[in-house]
Formats: sequence, C-alpha cells, structure tokens
Amino acid sequence: MSRDFPEHACPYARNLAARSEAFRRQVVFDPRELEDDEFGPDPFGEDESAAGCWGLKQRFPDRVLVMTSDSCFMNCRHCTRKGLLGAAQVVRTDEQLRDCVDWVKGRPQVRDVLLSGGDPLVLPDDEVLRFVRAFADLAQVDVVRLCTRAPCTNPGRVTRELAQLLGRSGKVWVNTQFNHADELTPEAVEACGNLVRCGIPVSCQTVLLAGVNDTEEALLDLFRALQRARVRPYYAFLCDPVAGISHFRVPIERARELAAACAEKIGGLGLPRFVADVPGGKRKTPIELL
Ligand SMILES: *Cc1c(COP(=O)(O)O)cnc(C)c1O
Repeated sequence: MSRDFPEHACPYARNLAARSEAFRRQVVFDPRELEDDEFGPDPFGEDESAAGCWGLKQRFPDRVLVMTSDSCFMNCRHCTRKGLLGAAQVVRTDEQLRDCVDWVKGRPQVRDVLLSGGDPLVLPDDEVLRFVRAFADLAQVDVVRLCTRAPCTNPGRVTRELAQLLGRSGKVWVNTQFNHADELTPEAVEACGNLVRCGIPVSCQTVLLAGVNDTEEALLDLFRALQRARVRPYYAFLCDPVAGISHFRVPIERARELAAACAEKIGGLGLPRFVADVPGGKRKTPIELL
C-alpha cells in the first residue's frame, strides 16, 4: 500500500527537508514502510461513508468531517489516510456539496464542521470559500474547522488575502500540524500570523513521531515555538493504527513519560492534550486512559 503512496512535496517542503532532518523524515520514503505489521489501511472505516452521504464522515454527535480534496502539498510519510488518498470520497460537485449541507441541516446537533481531505487549501481560494460559506451560513454551525497543514508545508499559500476571506464569516478555525520546531520558519510564522490577525484561532495537532519529536526537549521547543507564533498546541497524537508507519510509533509508556515531563515544564496554554484516536472511541482518548 505504501508503494502506492509516492514521495511528493511542494518546492517549499522540499527545501525545508533539505535543511531539517526532523522534517526530512516526514517527507522521504523509508523502506520500513513496506514491512508487514498488524495494521490495516483504513482503521476508522472511513472508506465506507457510515453517514450515508458522499464525502461526509461522522464519528461524534456534534461534529462532522467533509472530504474536500484528496491531495496535499506533501505526502506525509506518517499519513493516517495514506491507504485512502486517491481513492477517497471527495465532495466536488455543487450537488454533492448541497447533499452534505442538507445532511447537516437534518441534524441540528451538528455544530462543528471539519473541512478536511487531503488538504483543503490545495483548492483555489474561491473553492475553499465555497465550502466555508456553505456551512458557515447555517445558523446551527458555530465552527468551521479548516484542517490544513499548509501553514507548515506551504506557508506561502496562506496569504493575507486568503486569511481575510476566511476571517469574514467569524466561524473559521484553523487546525494545522507542526511536528518539530524546525518547521516554525519565518514563512510559517507569517502564515499563522496572517490567520490570527484576521481573528482566526489557530491550533496545532502534533503527531508523536519516533526520530522526529520523541524527546522532552524537542516537544518543549516545539510547544514554545508554537506559542510564539500564537498557535495553540491542541493535541499530541499517538500514531494512528494504520499500516506502514510502525517505525514512527512512540510506545505508549514513552508517550506517558513525555506527557508527564512536558506538563511539569510548560503552562497549560502551551501544553497539548496527549491523546490517541482509538477506532470506535467516543472521543480522542487521553493516553492516561489507554
Ligand atoms: C478527530 C475527528 C473529529 C474532531 O475531534 P476533536 O476531538 O473535536 O478535535 C471530528 N470528526 C472526525 C471524523 C474525526 O476523526
């Protein structure tokens, strides 16, 4: 399956990979990706649309995820959807989008819509805005979450103009992913600043990756750099149970040690929740409960 997940990185990401070993490991194919492990390609059953609506996934009552694209500015080697990209259900037509909106309207408890993929920001501004507006216009929706790694992988995409357009609805939050302090380049900090200046809360979902950020020092450096960029560390995830990323897995005991060590050295606003996404779980599960 990893054979079908080629190396791919936009020029900015390639350039950063040449300067940072921690980032390079997220970009460059590793033969260990092909080793057999106990995991399958689609742990969360995302391939079947349980919601019965093309491109829309629901695992939690008050929030839904909409697949807006099936590509990214780079193929992260630890990608949770590496087995699905290219084959994923993606909302493309106006009719498919209308079906998703109608689906949400029929469920008034849904108040948080995640625009995910793939990376939604591979789409041109007007198409991103088409998705944002479709959901932000619903009175029941309080939050439209743009799930994008662009601030890290292609920060030039997050222009002031785009940030202004996104900020207009007053409902957009950006969830991004930085995994190492090396990734907080001046360009990345500028991208995050553009969003924050337009009133868009920016949060970070870090993935704990062996050889990238599995030391106390690396994590604290990252969390401090995020705070300087006014990005809130939100989650630190254990690797998802997908095939082909075993060499990145940080053992749960080690993750607990890291979480405890970080908690003693940085204030709550700089400390993410250390969690795992457990198939069938009612929420992202705190690692203390695993
Ligand atoms: C992770 C996830 C969410 C968001 O969960 P939060 O804990 O609110 O960040 C929503 N929908 C799906 C399908 C998810 O996998």
